[in-house]
Amino acid sequence: MNIATRNFPLVPGFFLGCLLLLSTNLLYSQTELSWETSWATAKEQAAASDKVILLNFSGSDWCAPCIKMKQEIFGTEVFRAFAADHLVLLNADFPRRRKNQLSAEQQAQNEQLAEQYNRKGSFPMTVLLRANGSVLTSWEGLPSVSAEDFVKAIRPHEPETKAPTTGQTQVFKRTLLLMGSRFVISVVGQDQTVAEQQIDAAVAEIQRIEHLISSWDETSQTSEINRQAGIAPVKVDTELLELIRRSQKISEITQGAFDISFGSIDKEIWHFDGTMTALPAPDVAKQSVRLINYRNIILDEAAQTIFLKDAGMRIGFGAIGKGYAAEKAKAVLVDAGVTDGIVNAGGDLTVWGHQPDGSPWTIGIANPENKLDAFSYLEISNSAVVTSGNYEKFVEIDGKRYTHIIDPRTGYPVSGLKSVTIICPNAEMADALATSVFVLGKEIGLDLINQMQGVHAILVDDTGEISTSTQIELH
Ligand code: ADP
Ligand code: MG
Repeated sequence: MNIATRNFPLVPGFFLGCLLLLSTNLLYSQTELSWETSWATAKEQAAASDKVILLNFSGSDWCAPCIKMKQEIFGTEVFRAFAADHLVLLNADFPRRRKNQLSAEQQAQNEQLAEQYNRKGSFPMTVLLRANGSVLTSWEGLPSVSAEDFVKAIRPHEPETKAPTTGQTQVFKRTLLLMGSRFVISVVGQDQTVAEQQIDAAVAEIQRIEHLISSWDETSQTSEINRQAGIAPVKVDTELLELIRRSQKISEITQGAFDISFGSIDKEIWHFDGTMTALPAPDVAKQSVRLINYRNIILDEAAQTIFLKDAGMRIGFGAIGKGYAAEKAKAVLVDAGVTDGIVNAGGDLTVWGHQPDGSPWTIGIANPENKLDAFSYLEISNSAVVTSGNYEKFVEIDGKRYTHIIDPRTGYPVSGLKSVTIICPNAEMADALATSVFVLGKEIGLDLINQMQGVHAILVDDTGEISTSTQIELH
């Protein structure tokens, strides 16, 4: 496979950030929109006017992307015109400089809003809410869409939408937070109303899958399997049984490098939420790997049950779930008549058809040094591209970075690679293999990929060196 790539110059992000910070005050004075700061008032206003609430979490004096969002989205004419008629704007600010400190009361309110709507503490974070406080949609980080597209994404959620039909073939896009990640769904079409309905169906499908496979959702079948570990088999949907079977197949071909029963260790030992300050003792890590063994996930075909043999065992689909969801969402879109589109599940993509002008889609491969930048581009039509990177989620202890991918043999996070990109026809497979190659390392990982038909890999190691599987030529 010959993949066309283009190099991309590094963006001087640091300088950009500095410039933006310097111009903070200027930007705020330019924005004429009135932002509420009281949650109670915002709710009252929304209820009285049939508007929806746009809640924005920002760090007005330290968060460069927040300031950029104020300028590039909230500061535009298209947003202002839309907001004036349809939105109640609510700002929850988290300033850091003493001189900008909020009143204790305001601070407490904002903390409470964050507790409810921004658990992960993302900045900026934007949430669209009904007057009763229920979430319609949300955007984590600075949306990578134009102000027009941002407004379009809000439009279907306001009460009486009359979407215009342009008749021209174009890309309709929606960005939202699902499965704890940023999803972007793009469909090619001519009619906005039709496209929005297609996207709605894909979103519903992803939410359905999340509810089935999430180990964070206490009410999911996966959580029930974990609670019943060592106790009793749990009856599950065929879909979950099949996903577990396919996960076990990947465990077999990777000789256990990929193992969905890594979950006990994730829960007990490694916490990728910023609370860890020291490495676990080697004997503690070693002891905990005892519970990781995909062979101890017992499938009963006839009874449609899953049983985790040992008490304390836990399964989790962190390494395959997003790819699975991307494929299922694509299937829903294709069923709904979408012949060209992209589902981007937090960086795990599945792509089909073409752009409106008939050319292939161009996909950027993230640069492990700078997430917002791409080090190379792929032109593809019907394929999945998934990147696992150690920049995604990690803990830093004594200046060393430990990624969230665990080697089931040692119980320690793997090292050696910065990022692994897998290109193959199916996003679920690509997702699982990206994680697997991370664990297997450069040589063994590439060896495995080279034996698989139609599967390609691009690796960046710790020193920044790029290697590829044999059928890829980067140029
Ligand atoms: P990303 O979420 O960045 O796309 P991956 O697809 O590589 O990353 O998945 C990483 C997640 O997979 C971890 O957060 C964890 O939940 C889970 N995981 C970690 N180690 C393993 C492993 N050896 N086998 C299967 N899943 C794993
Ligand atoms: Mg993965």
